[in-house]
Amino acid sequence: MALNIVVCMKQVPDTTEVRINPETNTLIRDGVDSIINPFDTYAIEEAVRLCERVEGSKTTILSMGPPQVESSLKDALSVGADEVVLLSDREFAGADTWATSYTLAAAMKKLKPDLIITGKQAIDGDTAQVGPGIAVHLDMPQVCYVSKIREINDEVAIVERLLEDGHEVVEVKLPAVLTVVKEINEPRLPSLKGKMKAKKTAVTVWTNDDLDTDPECLGLTGSPTQVSKIFSPPKRGGGEMIDGENAQEKAETVVAKLKELQVI
Ligand SMILES: Cc1cc2nc3c(=O)[nH]c(=O)nc-3n(C[C@H](O)[C@H](O)[C@H](O)COP(=O)(O)OP(=O)(O)OC[C@H]3O[C@@H](n4cnc5c(N)ncnc54)[C@H](O)[C@@H]3O)c2cc1C
Repeated sequence: MALNIVVCMKQVPDTTEVRINPETNTLIRDGVDSIINPFDTYAIEEAVRLCERVEGSKTTILSMGPPQVESSLKDALSVGADEVVLLSDREFAGADTWATSYTLAAAMKKLKPDLIITGKQAIDGDTAQVGPGIAVHLDMPQVCYVSKIREINDEVAIVERLLEDGHEVVEVKLPAVLTVVKEINEPRLPSLKGKMKAKKTAVTVWTNDDLDTDPECLGLTGSPTQVSKIFSPPKRGGGEMIDGENAQEKAETVVAKLKELQVI
């Protein structure tokens, strides 16, 4: 049994303070370094570990984006990925999560994976829709928030899902899509051997001509949602500390303030 694993990797700005161009409603990327979406580093690590566990297996990293994504794909090679594929074409530009997952799914039809692993969500778009979207386009089962792969063979995987109040154990038929949380592993650092391999391995670039797609489903044209406005919520004002000798006195002050505000 050997597994053909494909990990979806998104390149994101290396910041949690995303700045938006108010006119175009797009991200301001100038002056911000790009990194592998942090959740995807766990997805890559898990795939590499599965390849170490199951002899003959292969990890391919798939990303959709502009040519600059090649640098992150090289980073993925340096931590153990075997092959990397970049989907890059003007036709794909302006895609919302539906069109993004449609395009990634079209590439999956060529790659024919037994297992697809994505991060839980991207730290810029933050929707957590792309993994489940790929599963829907491919009519595959999906398990989200996976925190452990207990067992896997060429027919099924038994995994643990992280829930708010515990874990759920799920058996899923392969091929399937798993989205992973950071509790699943501790991603490794690149090795010297890995860096050498990354230098030597070419990034495979596929344009729309390499895929079997409906042009009406791609990019902006194929996106049923459009961003009309993006803004940061206004900063909250500071709170007020209520002083008092005891709980009774503090409660009376709170009640008086609520009455003053005509809340009660
Ligand atoms: C309503 C809406 C409209 C948008 N319109 C535009 C637009 O006009 N122009 C524009 O540039 N962007 C647009 N975007 C952003 C774009 O759709 C997202 O960047 C993209 O679809 C990924 O969504 P996400 O960042 O929420 O990823 P999530 O769904 O949170 O990501 C989950 C996982 O999916 C995988 N993944 C996500 N994106 C990719 C990718 N590109 N390649 C490989 N794997 C991936 C990763 O494994 C990731 O961890 C729009 C988004 C929304 C919600």
